[in-house]
Amino acid sequence: MKIATKGRVVIVGGAIMGSFCAWSLRRAGFTGPIAVVEKDPTYQYSSTALSAAGIRTQFGTPENIRMSLFGADMFRNIKTIFGEDADVGYRERGYLILGTPEQAGARKAAAQMQRENGADILALDAQQLQARFPGIRFDDVGIGTLGARHEGWFDAWSLLTLVRRAARQLGVEYIAAAVAGFDTRGCAINGVRLSNGDVLACELCVLAAGAQSGRLAAGLGIDLPVVPKKRTVFCFKTPFTLPNFPMLFDTSGIWIRPEGEGYIGGIQPPQDRDADADGDFEPHHELMEEMFWPRLAKRIPAMEELRLQRAWAGHYEVNTLDHNGVVGPHDELSNLIFATGFSGHGVMHAPAVGRGVAELVTAGGFQSIDLSALGWERIRDAEPLVEAIVY
Ligand SMILES: Cc1cc2nc3c(=O)[nH]c(=O)nc-3n(C[C@H](O)[C@H](O)[C@H](O)COP(=O)(O)OP(=O)(O)OC[C@H]3O[C@@H](n4cnc5c(N)ncnc54)[C@H](O)[C@@H]3O)c2cc1C
Repeated sequence: MKIATKGRVVIVGGAIMGSFCAWSLRRAGFTGPIAVVEKDPTYQYSSTALSAAGIRTQFGTPENIRMSLFGADMFRNIKTIFGEDADVGYRERGYLILGTPEQAGARKAAAQMQRENGADILALDAQQLQARFPGIRFDDVGIGTLGARHEGWFDAWSLLTLVRRAARQLGVEYIAAAVAGFDTRGCAINGVRLSNGDVLACELCVLAAGAQSGRLAAGLGIDLPVVPKKRTVFCFKTPFTLPNFPMLFDTSGIWIRPEGEGYIGGIQPPQDRDADADGDFEPHHELMEEMFWPRLAKRIPAMEELRLQRAWAGHYEVNTLDHNGVVGPHDELSNLIFATGFSGHGVMHAPAVGRGVAELVTAGGFQSIDLSALGWERIRDAEPLVEAIVY
């Protein structure tokens, strides 16, 4: 990996990934100019602003577990890192992921692997679950795995605001413009073309454009399989609230967690209604009646009387090869670094990805968490690093 010296680093996309890359570069001692190019400074359509902002350590890939642990540690110590007024509303209530009796063996093995990688996961049977979570039905459940620590949710907007402010204070420049294309010379990008006609000279370019990353990479002739998939979040109230409610992932595919006075929840649309969603942010309203509500009522009968408040949709930046992020340099355009493709787990992993990218740029390789398994080579060679636990 080429180590940047004093030339400009241009980061494409200024939401959570791009901002953590910029801030981490400064923290790692990079003193050259850093420009973050963001086409929409309101972030209204960014995945970051529209996410459910959960953090879990229950993954099938060790790298994802370690990145989550790093994120959770940051959220716990947010004031030490970002100052006394910093608050990202971190609630460490755990993910409760339910499994059928047939899945119990595999899920216990996964929990063991997660523990070996530093997570704190309990594997509970139906009786233990019932004692902990009255109000939820567990009669068809064979196992529930619960993160006792390092899992829960936070406020993604507050986190983005904090890291952007901190990056700016360290001299990072945010440019409000869209990246329209790239200039290359030999095996390197030497200019980033903006919609306002400017061309930014660059020594290194970081692609952190979320769901648009695949489209931008195509402009360089690179086939990066990252596409926008629409995911809807329903926001609702129920006649009562259950105490200590976790982030619940049901065997039926629905998820639900507390938010303010009520709850948010959702479900992945069926494949035949999950086309690439470029520019489409209209919620999948019909999924509430068709799929979400009946399944929720089955699991938590008293929630049958929910009152829908609103719904919104955002885009997952789905890596269609394996649902894992792509982090690291391209093999031919060696000054292009990917930080994208996290397929619905990018907010929780952004702190660790930022640090990893900063290590690549300042030290020439990963120092803290070895993220090389997430590199471009597996995409080039179509050798998936499959993440089995996806939602
Ligand atoms: C409904 C939903 C729920 C989710 N829940 C979770 C969760 O619980 N936990 C979790 O960790 N993750 C979750 N995610 C995923 C998470 O939001 C993303 O993985 C993460 O936000 C990716 O961050 P990003 O900065 O790469 O992308 P984004 O936040 O999308 O930012 C990319 C930025 O690039 C900018 N951009 C794009 N093209 C250009 C261009 N040509 N020029 C300049 N700028 C450009 C965009 O304007 C945007 O601001 C969820 C996502 C959704 C939609």
